[in-house]
Amino acid sequence: MAKPDDDRAVTLTNARIVLPDGVRDGALHISRGTVSGAPVAGEVIDLDGRYVVPGFVDMHVHGGAGASYQLGDPDDAHRAASFHLAHGTTTTMASLVTGDQEELARAVEGLADLAADGVLAGVHLEGPYLARSRCGAHDPALLRDPDPAEFRRLVRLGRGHVRMITLAPELPGALDLVREAVDAGVIAAVGHTDGTGQAARAAFDAGARVATHLFNAMRPLHHREGGPVAAALNDPRVTVELINDGVHVEPAVARLAFAATPRVALITDAMAAAGMGDGDYRLGVMDVEVRDGRATLAGGTSIAGSTITMADAFRRAVTDVGLPIERAAGAASLTPARALGIDSRVGSLEPGKDADLAVLDDDLKIAWVMKQGRRV
Ligand SMILES: [Zn+2]
Repeated sequence: MAKPDDDRAVTLTNARIVLPDGVRDGALHISRGTVSGAPVAGEVIDLDGRYVVPGFVDMHVHGGAGASYQLGDPDDAHRAASFHLAHGTTTTMASLVTGDQEELARAVEGLADLAADGVLAGVHLEGPYLARSRCGAHDPALLRDPDPAEFRRLVRLGRGHVRMITLAPELPGALDLVREAVDAGVIAAVGHTDGTGQAARAAFDAGARVATHLFNAMRPLHHREGGPVAAALNDPRVTVELINDGVHVEPAVARLAFAATPRVALITDAMAAAGMGDGDYRLGVMDVEVRDGRATLAGGTSIAGSTITMADAFRRAVTDVGLPIERAAGAASLTPARALGIDSRVGSLEPGKDADLAVLDDDLKIAWVMKQGRRV
């Protein structure tokens, strides 16, 4: 993608730059949309001691600002991505909940254009091959067993931009689909599963590398049957997603996950209601009510997606979970970037990478955001 303002040079002075291994006080040089290892001439912005964190990478998000990725509508997708960009997410996947074949096909086709334009990092198929008993906010009537022909068609329609699929490893044909995904360059993720730890381990051995929103929509961790949670936390190949909104996972349990593995990726799993306040919304074909910021299926208690931004997830990781700022920032940027295989370009403020960043104010909220060297 061509970078606008390609020759623009900016220096952020008096910055507290959050790097993977700690905080460095000083200047951050930006040139041609990337972080520069050497001083540059040009505009100087004095940050007055404020933190600069890498732009957030959200590998699991369904929408925001009233718009959803689900129908593949470009205006909706732009609206959702712009909302999250303003809250620090400079790299975003677009997640699709379970739909029928034609809905998913249309969505993948539409979103592939936006991924080709660099608005999206890719498409995440959350389903449709998920466990009915762990369906969460997915319509149980639309869930199905892994269907390689359907999967191949979606990958083809996505023109290289279907980057991830979440599936339940205990379903018939699931392990073959994991292998097929890996061969097609699609990251396989274990989630919405009623399977045992053994089923999860088999999926990881077959090539799955992510556990989708760890703890949520899977068998709980039990001390005599660790289930997919223990299998994922114990496997050094696996990145675990965490919805750190204080609702899906309580801070004490988030702390355990961070203690167990360096590979926790903060996600929002945000739905269209993010940024919109309380009200009635749709997630795929399901009606969702948001009350006091908490999204549940209409008339039920099942938690639907969240309404947070990555800025919230990051800040809570510091304030509620108690992580050092560089650890929280890494979980919101470098860890998901690595899981997606894009960490040579994004995920940290190291020379040569995209100048994607967020400047924080004193209470760790977002002051302003830069993507590829341009303030947004
Ligand atoms: Zn989701």
